[in-house]
Amino acid sequence: MLELSTIADLRIWTSGQRKGGRRIGLVPTMGYLHEGHLALVDEARRRADAVILSIFVNPLQFGPGEDLARYPRDLPRDRSLAQSRGVDALFLPDIETMYPPGSETRVTPGLTAERWEGAARPGHFTGVLTVVAKLFHLVEPDIACFGQKDIQQLTLIRRMVCDLNWPVELAAVPTVRELDGLALSSRNAYLNPSDRRKAVMLSQALQAAHRAFCEGERQAERLDARMRELLNTEPAVKVEYIAVVEPDGLSPVVTVDARTVVAVAARLGDTRLIDNISLAQGVG
Ligand code: AMP
Repeated sequence: MLELSTIADLRIWTSGQRKGGRRIGLVPTMGYLHEGHLALVDEARRRADAVILSIFVNPLQFGPGEDLARYPRDLPRDRSLAQSRGVDALFLPDIETMYPPGSETRVTPGLTAERWEGAARPGHFTGVLTVVAKLFHLVEPDIACFGQKDIQQLTLIRRMVCDLNWPVELAAVPTVRELDGLALSSRNAYLNPSDRRKAVMLSQALQAAHRAFCEGERQAERLDARMRELLNTEPAVKVEYIAVVEPDGLSPVVTVDARTVVAVAARLGDTRLIDNISLAQGVG
């Protein structure tokens, strides 16, 4: 597995792959890898010939009071996990490489970014789209893999690729979960044992919405109410939003169907967790 940290070295690698006729698969991450990230690697390996995984904790997508400084990092562990899953190259740029002094151009998303995560985290998706756009230009991947776990991010990246005519195929990978249903996330490392036990309630609430849907419930507000009722039984879980939305622009629906996405964001202590399901699938 090669490790690349400069743009010059990255370009030598990508052009070598292309000359060899190999399709490049990109997996962008912020590191502290877990099985969710590695499922993206597996998908990239299925769909491309050479897989590059980037690790970059992108300061642009963190707000002033957020967890940039304490975001978990463990490069030696990431390196061995990536290698064990067959990653061909790691891209490990530093901040000056991605944002040299004077850098000021940004990719601004549209209305889809204004609600849910975007409302809670102003500027977050501008940071995400800017770094993803830069990675797409730098790597010129044939395919890029993203997790359904971050459904609004995935939706906005799809929108950007379509709106800016980007010649990249996107793969959406289902959320990988712990045995009890908690969606894997690098931020789960912040949870103390008591909050970790309570964190399972997010996926339980989503599963309750799915169960209600399977039993014939079609009113969005009833699914929302069912989830709140459950989540409110645990005072430590502070619900930020429950979104019952259509999958293309994530706008709220009144009546649900199998394509409807149900998303939740909640705080447990200092930790902010998000999760979502499609009503077609449930927690899976
Ligand atoms: P992050 O390192 O948190 O920026 O995540 C990098 C990529 O991994 C994003 O496309 C995420 O959606 C995806 N991802 C994170 N957690 C999971 C998970 N539990 N299952 C599947 N994909 C995930």
